[in-house]
Amino acid sequence: MRKFTRKPCPSVLLEPFSKANQSPKWIVYGDRYEKQTNRTYYNYPQINREKLNHLIFPTLIAQTDNHCSYCDGFPLMSADETIDHFKPKSKFPLEVCSWENLYIACAHCQKVKGDKFDILLLRPDELSYDFDAYYFYDFTEHEIRILPNLSIDKLERAEKTDEILDFNHKAMVESRRQSYDGFIDKPNYPKNKLKHRFIFQ
Ligand SMILES: [Zn+2]
Repeated sequence: MRKFTRKPCPSVLLEPFSKANQSPKWIVYGDRYEKQTNRTYYNYPQINREKLNHLIFPTLIAQTDNHCSYCDGFPLMSADETIDHFKPKSKFPLEVCSWENLYIACAHCQKVKGDKFDILLLRPDELSYDFDAYYFYDFTEHEIRILPNLSIDKLERAEKTDEILDFNHKAMVESRRQSYDGFIDKPNYPKNKLKHRFIFQ
């Protein structure tokens, strides 16, 4: 998981919902979703005939240079199935449109993460987060390993994050191996187009 800096919240989420209801749109959308009885699927609201997820997609993509927030897979193609709710929308409906809760993610990471959440789960845009502060890369096995001698607090977070995101899932290990083998001898290949950029840093 590679650190990134979160962009400011897109104005479309902060605009007043209506003349009569001056609450920001994201709050009203959360309230509405909480009242919904069936929360298995989230249908993003439309604003001026454009779906909200499409409106915020460019900002989400820009944050990570079109890479998955969790595995740094690349590229991500569509706004329809790539937005992950860090705190799952099934358990935290009020945060369904909260900017800080939205992360762009590949299909693999979304499936693995599912609706798992723990307060210890590391966020890639957390100020104190850095890959090197918690993990190191095993260039032989292409596995992500937890640093030895971490403080108890950091160790717990490193373990919980690995457990939820399953960093060493077979498919992910293979993807990193291919990325590394394919590009390690191509120093001029644009860094931002590599998958799993933390390997090459
Ligand atoms: Zn991913």
